[in-house]
Amino acid sequence: MEETAKKPNPETPGGSDFISEFIKEDLASGRFTYVHTRFPPEPNGWLHIGHCKAMMLDFIMAERFGGKCNLRFDDTNPEKEDISYVEAIKRDVRWLGFDWEDREYYASDYYEYLYELAVKIIKKGHAYVDDLSEEEISEYRGTAVPDKHNITQTPPGRNSPWRDRPVEENLDLFARMRGGEFADGSKTLRAKIDMGDPNLLMRDPVMYRIRRDTHYRTGNRWCIYPMYDFQHPLSDAKERITHSLCSLEYEIHRPLYEWFIREAEVFPSRQIEFARLNLTRTVLSKRYLLRLVQEKHVSAWDDPRMPTLAGLRRRGYTPEALRNFVSQIGIAKTDSTVDILFLEYCLRENLNKTSRRAMAVLRPLKLIIENWPEGKTEDLEAVNNPEDQGAGTRVIRFSRELWIEQDDFEEVPPPKYFRLFPGNSVRLRYGYIVTCTGCDKDPAGTVQAVRCTYDPETKGGNASDNRKVRGTIHWLSAADAVPLEVRLYDYLFSAEKPMEVPVRSPREPGGTEAAPGSFLDNLNPQSLEIISTAYGEPCLAVAKPGERFQFERLGYFVRDCPSEAGEEGNTGDRPVYNKTVGLRDTWAKITKKNQ
Ligand code: ATP
Ligand code: MG
Repeated sequence: MEETAKKPNPETPGGSDFISEFIKEDLASGRFTYVHTRFPPEPNGWLHIGHCKAMMLDFIMAERFGGKCNLRFDDTNPEKEDISYVEAIKRDVRWLGFDWEDREYYASDYYEYLYELAVKIIKKGHAYVDDLSEEEISEYRGTAVPDKHNITQTPPGRNSPWRDRPVEENLDLFARMRGGEFADGSKTLRAKIDMGDPNLLMRDPVMYRIRRDTHYRTGNRWCIYPMYDFQHPLSDAKERITHSLCSLEYEIHRPLYEWFIREAEVFPSRQIEFARLNLTRTVLSKRYLLRLVQEKHVSAWDDPRMPTLAGLRRRGYTPEALRNFVSQIGIAKTDSTVDILFLEYCLRENLNKTSRRAMAVLRPLKLIIENWPEGKTEDLEAVNNPEDQGAGTRVIRFSRELWIEQDDFEEVPPPKYFRLFPGNSVRLRYGYIVTCTGCDKDPAGTVQAVRCTYDPETKGGNASDNRKVRGTIHWLSAADAVPLEVRLYDYLFSAEKPMEVPVRSPREPGGTEAAPGSFLDNLNPQSLEIISTAYGEPCLAVAKPGERFQFERLGYFVRDCPSEAGEEGNTGDRPVYNKTVGLRDTWAKITKKNQ
């Protein structure tokens, strides 16, 4: 059932911004009487965090003004599109908490409608069939060149010799293009605008091209496909979209958007541009993300190192963290790059409040409590989440032999080392204070086990405990701990701006002359480390895929989910945990330093 327009919701995040101001003006002036937006992904790849911004603006503007938002697949490019992308996109939109209800549309459903509008424009004498090749068209169009004062000039282009074909001939040829009489690339339909327009996009843009390729929805029914600049405004108009929000690179397309709406005499949707999201150390372009997948630099579109929404989900990101991040960066009209540390800050803020604590040991070392009787165990109480009383407590088992982290012991401590070393005491989290008595070594001198004694008066850090120790370490009862595989991630790219590529030096091995590098040169070879010797509390073996934890002192982790891309996953029998983000807040440190 169609829902009636929702009440305006002034509470949606974002506050006042230029898009809301435009919309308010349009409502006040009567240009539109309602608000209807659309989120228009092309199903040629998986959505990334930049799309999260676009999607939020589309859905939230509609919500804020009591309107609706459509999900429209902008699928007019048969070579690159696929149903698996449609499905991935729908999962991501739902995951972020947006609901398009029954308003799921496909530009490919509009082919007939678009064809008729093209015919209408031909009949008005404002479109023509051209026999120039793609190369000739761009040559005739001309290019922008700097003059002697380095000011960009766009000398006028040249008219195609086919530009003045009579309407009847254009109608006939266009119908025969559709009918499959001509070879791919041998003819196009072009808008007849102005080959002298300073905006190159206005120089008789191509509306249709011939392309024999099987489309994932329309199969071989069509051999001509509409171009984006023609299709997009008319699809918006078909759905009676009032505000067509898009990223800034479409600003120069706006005159064309308006031209097609005017010529086709359809609903006057309005295009408004906003700055796209750029993030440091991150590539946000489907074209390049596809390359990472195809060339196997990552395991799949949802590899936890990918900035795709599915990758971020598998990494342990929450929809709330992403939405808070996008709300806080705001909406601007000029492009800028956001520091990825700010994204991680928003993530930690959310995970700190919502994730249960647990203990895990990544690089285990045995700790033997010499004065604890063999075979004796004791159940200790641990808080599940100090930020959330409602999360309750759990029982953890204490015993004579524990696992601790290798780096929580040093036989010869460096300065300011407050963890275990002979003679020093530390608290075992939720348990007792222990004092190190020494260690066992193998003949090669490698430490095999650490020895200590415990003080029975110091259980759980209770009030009777007046002893001061400077270190608290985490641990697991060796007999109860469950084996885990832990995957630690670092940034996929080691450069702050991965698309800024250094020129390869000719002296490098294999290089003969200076060659332009590729963004792949900036890949971080250490972006994944797999630790297959880790242990965790028993609750980590029964957690559901996607369940998130804070491993005390180590960071936030999530139980891995099977790849949505059907990637061959973990074949071992250990539960796999992905590191989401560490505990240390580098962002807060930076902002503090800058104050
Ligand atoms: P890409 O550059 O990754 O290929 P695209 O623009 O081709 O992206 P679409 O599927 O056409 O991808 O994008 C759907 C919507 O998302 C468009 O309205 C586009 O403006 C917007 N969008 C794409 N990338 C970003 C980004 N980095 N920040 C904000 N919005 C974006
Ligand atoms: Mg696009």
